[in-house]
Amino acid sequence: MDCPKCHQTALLETTRPEGVVVQQCSECEGHWLTKVQYEQWQVTHPPQVATAECLSQPGLPRHTTSFNDAKAALCPECRRYLSRAKVHYPDPFFLERCNECEGYWCDRGEWDVLNHLGVSGFLEQFFDQEHQMKLREQNAANREQAQMVEKLGPALANQIMELADVLADHPAGDYALAYLVRKAAQTSEMREFRVQ
Ligand SMILES: [Zn+2]
Ligand SMILES: [Zn+2]
Repeated sequence: MDCPKCHQTALLETTRPEGVVVQQCSECEGHWLTKVQYEQWQVTHPPQVATAECLSQPGLPRHTTSFNDAKAALCPECRRYLSRAKVHYPDPFFLERCNECEGYWCDRGEWDVLNHLGVSGFLEQFFDQEHQMKLREQNAANREQAQMVEKLGPALANQIMELADVLADHPAGDYALAYLVRKAAQTSEMREFRVQ
């Protein structure tokens, strides 16, 4: 079996320090997990969901994206194109998988990140559209909240977020929102009037 990224470099069976058996490339240090090897790992590593919080928690180790990460590749076992799934880490990267024979390819360092996050027993989730969509939504919401805190300060930002939740659940929430928008429009008109 040859490395899908370096070609003509043979993959060699290696046991990594954490105990997983992989097919490793001596040149790029990427590794292939066959379906059987991965399933053996899963026996002792139950599925854990990679939430947006888990992927963006403070103090995560830096990951230097491999120069191979952007390269499309063929499965070393069945020669089909590997599908790619983005892992929304602070230093994002793509995990690869063969949908045919169900092996996984990790470029250098990617497995360590996934293992550090505790999600190495549930790599399928990154190829699940619904999970990816949920992560994107959570990331967008987190960014919006961070911007609000930056612009308004934490106290007012929290009040606004609480109010937004209250109004979302209230049957006449629209009425209150319309009032706020009207009020804001009036205030900005008055500001413009003062400037002139
Ligand atoms: Zn390689
Ligand atoms: Zn394959």
